[in-house]
Amino acid sequence: MSMFKEIYGNKNVIDELIEGVRSNRVSHAQLFLGPQGNEGLPMAMAYATYLLCEDKGEQDSCGKCSACIKANKWIHPDIHFSFPVITRKSGEKTKSVVWIQEWRQFLQDGAQRNVFDWIQIMNDKLAEKTVRGKQGNITTEECHDIISKLSLKAFEGEYKILIMWMPEYLGAAGNILLNLLEEPPEDTVLLLVAQNQDLILNTLKSRTQLVKINRLSDENIIKACLDKFQLGKEEASKIAHLAEGDINEIENLISNADNDNETLLKEILNLAVSNNGIGISKWVDRIASTGRESQKGFIKYLLQILRECVLFKYGNESLLRLKGAEHVLVEKLSSRLDIEKTELLITILNKKHYYIERNAHPKILFFDLTLLLTELLSDRAISDYKRSYTTMA
Ligand SMILES: [Zn+2]
Repeated sequence: MSMFKEIYGNKNVIDELIEGVRSNRVSHAQLFLGPQGNEGLPMAMAYATYLLCEDKGEQDSCGKCSACIKANKWIHPDIHFSFPVITRKSGEKTKSVVWIQEWRQFLQDGAQRNVFDWIQIMNDKLAEKTVRGKQGNITTEECHDIISKLSLKAFEGEYKILIMWMPEYLGAAGNILLNLLEEPPEDTVLLLVAQNQDLILNTLKSRTQLVKINRLSDENIIKACLDKFQLGKEEASKIAHLAEGDINEIENLISNADNDNETLLKEILNLAVSNNGIGISKWVDRIASTGRESQKGFIKYLLQILRECVLFKYGNESLLRLKGAEHVLVEKLSSRLDIEKTELLITILNKKHYYIERNAHPKILFFDLTLLLTELLSDRAISDYKRSYTTMA
């Protein structure tokens, strides 16, 4: 689906976009900018659908006309997509259209609109192992392709629309698009959907109108959990707390709810305290064999517990959002980790989360983490090993 009603937050942005269309003030080059896990891409797609809908309502597209039906399947001939791609065969010049089938499937699957997941999906599809491990970019060939596609008349709709996801991946090729952005052909709307403005060419940025997309609030996420996933209130607020405004995390967290992170954590803490090498290596094997999302889920869970430890240490018990048994866990862990150790661990866990997302080797990563836990939970002073870990991680 590509409708505004599917967007959980950013109501003000939706209102402004609709108002722009209704008063005939559609800006021809817009930059949808928001942090990772934001609703930029669904927002751009809902907006494109609204622009093309043949029976627009005051708050949303109709969802029923032929334009809506095609847009909702991401096959409308006047909506073009550009996104980072990798080469399919060695020596081949690549364009986004080469991966369009996989891209539609990616949009269909919905939950994981994260560029690292997308690049992984493409890498997994490659038959030739030699070209795997590519990082993806939006190529020079793609930029020329965009210009030639948009020079044609619209096929069916009032507008022809380009949705470019992650213009951060353009590199210098982006310069090819400057004229297009400055003087787009008639009835053309260019929507760039980005996360990090520091990685976008200034010349591109200055030619677009900024549409700021905000992170979802806890209330937005709770609403999404209640409406879309029919969760109970308690579970919904727990997920909102863990998701930290990242829309991608909601479904991941729900599907990983069965993974008992609390048990996993208790096990590794006991193993670390008793310095049980065999047990630790079995535990590492087990977590390394789960999927990347579960591993990220575990790291997030441990981060949450550690933040609660910090609150607990400062006496802010009223802020603790924990189940009964987790209280005991936080108390025990707080007695072994002083603030300095806790903060070091939080810093390193954040880095681990980042590396898992970028496909770090899980066994090495978790083995390293258990070593650190063993050290931190021992009675040694932090100064003995702090330097080696801060430089290593
Ligand atoms: Zn419609």
